[in-house]
Amino acid sequence: MDKKVSLLIFCFSCLFIGCPPAPTDTLETAPPATTAPVTGTAPATAPEIPAPDNRQRRPKNIILMIGDGMGISQITAGMYSNGNRLNLERFPVIGLHKSYSSDNLVTDSAAGATAFSAGVKTYNGAIGVSRDTLPVVTILELAEAAGLPTGLVSTSSIVHATPASFIAHNRYRKNYEEIAADFLKTEVDLFIGGGARYFNRRESDTRNLVRELQARNYLVENFVEKDIQEIRPDVSKNYAYLTADSEPLPFAQGRDYLVPAAAMAPGFLDRRDTKNRGFFLMIEGSQIDWGGHANNSDYIISEMIEFDNAIGEVLRFAAADGETLVIITADHETGGYAIQSGSKMGEIDGAFTSDYHTADLIPVFAYGPGAEHFSGIFENTAIFDQMKKLFAFD
Ligand code: MG
Ligand code: ZN
Repeated sequence: MDKKVSLLIFCFSCLFIGCPPAPTDTLETAPPATTAPVTGTAPATAPEIPAPDNRQRRPKNIILMIGDGMGISQITAGMYSNGNRLNLERFPVIGLHKSYSSDNLVTDSAAGATAFSAGVKTYNGAIGVSRDTLPVVTILELAEAAGLPTGLVSTSSIVHATPASFIAHNRYRKNYEEIAADFLKTEVDLFIGGGARYFNRRESDTRNLVRELQARNYLVENFVEKDIQEIRPDVSKNYAYLTADSEPLPFAQGRDYLVPAAAMAPGFLDRRDTKNRGFFLMIEGSQIDWGGHANNSDYIISEMIEFDNAIGEVLRFAAADGETLVIITADHETGGYAIQSGSKMGEIDGAFTSDYHTADLIPVFAYGPGAEHFSGIFENTAIFDQMKKLFAFD
């Protein structure tokens, strides 16, 4: 073959199958960096190599957002039902976690949240306790002990498994009144969620936890007195807003507080942070999971888009602040949800393999200082380990 022709064929094949790897010597034998001369200026031809950023940037604040039951299909369905856009696309770092619990490849939300809150794999149903039912210290408690303001926001009741696992210690997730009483054992600065009845109309005792909170410098408001748009938390006090008597409604039936709460909570905690130590905030979109349990694709999608709008509010704070790490993940996938053939952009045909959770790997999205620690594949407990390390709680 003519040399010119074979060169041409070689170049064309590069276009289609990719060029052969560059000779390794350019990677291996790069000359060592020379030290700058003591006097004089660098030669005009010196290559401009940016200095490596070796500063270990640590976040001051950490906001962990949990979409309960939010697997890849839930995210996909939300995105394709929202004009092919989600705020989740703005995250530069993405990883995957292994969600299994200590006693089941398929975790529940209690064991899943305890892995995030305390860094232990425990049994399904466990709230802030280890496999032997002993309390394990949580990131919220470590933050409180270090003098950081803390907050919990949830679209379930605030004593439900996910938020409960950050503040309570109980051998069983459904002991709601016991879990509510654990809110009095910390100084949590802010909490927003349902479950008023477990605080002020208790069946197991005559305590009124709303009054007890008020006696401890909490401003406590609720959905009957005030709409979320009307609340005016006073930064000189801790703040609780109870959004439902038991479980809040689905978004599609009128629940509207998650996005305004996500817009308000970071600024509130930042203003509470008078010692400039940072804050910890957990925000949960609880009902993506309930849409999965109900095998209801529309329920999943509306909850997913609302959760993503809450993410947008948190990113607005984090981008302006510059010292806030935002981590978004889920405890597990729910429903074995899949997007079927025949689906169109804006018209998702979802199908389900289960009315319970599945054991899929779960995405983790990170933004801000320290985000780089959340790439790769890791155990769900690594979320706690990294938060603890980044806060320097040792
Ligand atoms: Mg939950
Ligand atoms: Zn569930």
